[in-house]
Amino acid sequence: MNKSIYSGPVFEMATKQFERVADHLQILEMDRDRLLYPKRAIAVSCPIHRDDGRTEVYQGYRVQHHLTLGPTKGGTRFAPSVDIGEVAALAIWMSWKCALAGLPYGGAKGGITVDPYSLSPRELQALSRRYMQEMIPFVGPHTDVMAPDMGTNEQIMAWFMDTYSMYQGQTINEIVTGKPISTGGTLGRREATGRGVAYLVGRALEHLGIAAGNATAIVQGFGNVGSVTAYSLAERGVKIVGVSDHTAAYYDPAGLDVGELQRHIAERGRFSGFSAQSLIDPSELLVRTCDVLVPAAIEQVITGDNASQLKCRILAEGANGPTTPEADSILDQRGGEIFVLPDILCNSGGVIVSYFEWVQDLQRLFWEEAEVFDRLHRILERSFQQTIARARRDRISHRMAAMAIGVSVVQSAKRTRGLFP
Ligand code: NAD
Repeated sequence: MNKSIYSGPVFEMATKQFERVADHLQILEMDRDRLLYPKRAIAVSCPIHRDDGRTEVYQGYRVQHHLTLGPTKGGTRFAPSVDIGEVAALAIWMSWKCALAGLPYGGAKGGITVDPYSLSPRELQALSRRYMQEMIPFVGPHTDVMAPDMGTNEQIMAWFMDTYSMYQGQTINEIVTGKPISTGGTLGRREATGRGVAYLVGRALEHLGIAAGNATAIVQGFGNVGSVTAYSLAERGVKIVGVSDHTAAYYDPAGLDVGELQRHIAERGRFSGFSAQSLIDPSELLVRTCDVLVPAAIEQVITGDNASQLKCRILAEGANGPTTPEADSILDQRGGEIFVLPDILCNSGGVIVSYFEWVQDLQRLFWEEAEVFDRLHRILERSFQQTIARARRDRISHRMAAMAIGVSVVQSAKRTRGLFP
């Protein structure tokens, strides 16, 4: 097995996590590669005309992890960090996440190595359409369904859907999720991940006997996931004391006004310049005192270097892969001091409501918002209960428990279907 194309820190992290779970589940060595390594990885070159007349080529990827349970499903990331190893790791995490939630999907992920903030709206549209056009032979509503992730949004999903549909000669809404309502999106998708995070934080606070009205939270990243999480936590009475984006970090123990923060972002597109008074060094944000710490930006921010300094009661992983295996070992050593809501549970609201969107698009039958959130909460509640029960039963961390459930679902389906031919 040629493992080298994926090598890199994020893929190594996903591998290490999988090995730990595979040891716990006593999965045979000969079955491990089949569970871990992606079924397909696609790399494409996407040329576009820049506004200044130059032609520039961007590298794009799509990784489909396994096809055992149904089509693959996963977001598309536009970021300078994107490489095939990162995309593969994110696809693998998507698989365990979908399986934990009981969704009929394998995991996928895609991305383009680009700073989306460096493109004009016209360039961004050209790149998005070209990426989807290059992917047409490999995706489809019953093969692989895309969604937003870091650096992409509803508008980009609409361009993806339109490009795919123009090539098919008919409108095929179900090729992507996370679309605007006007193009077959579902009510609640935009808020789903953040509201899911807030719901699970609410359950963790109850579990620990902390009243939401007495709790404080720090949120790293203020995009789709971070901003909605902050807003939803504030609605539940939690005081937001710290926030950051890629340009600045702020901390104020008296509380920050989430409405003001959102207005600033809407006007300026970034946090820098918000408040000189509460400005702090971004590296300090995660180790400031709070009840709930929500990393909601990038991978590998809680590491062997800072895990022992975290001063939170709940670590709610809005981002994918924010905590390294070295940090996990430290958190394990700290015993039950920090209640971890692992990423594949904590941010699963996004893919769950994406699944609802796909189902509604296929059926051409659209639900009320209350139905979307009622169904979402039921699935999150079940996953939350199953994760804590498994952790307690096997005396393992919440991450190990959530992954053990997800990996077992995929393993069992593979075993039952058998190996073709
Ligand atoms: P987004 O592009 O909407 O927002 C990303 C935010 O992170 C921005 O505010 C950006 O400024 C900030 N950021 C980037 N680098 C940073 C840094 N070094 N320090 C602090 N902030 C930084 O992306 P998103 O959709 O909110 O995704 C955020 C995370 O959540 C990613 O890990 C993504 O994979 C994960 N996630 C997203 C969804 C979803 O539905 N969008 C679902 C599940 C998981």
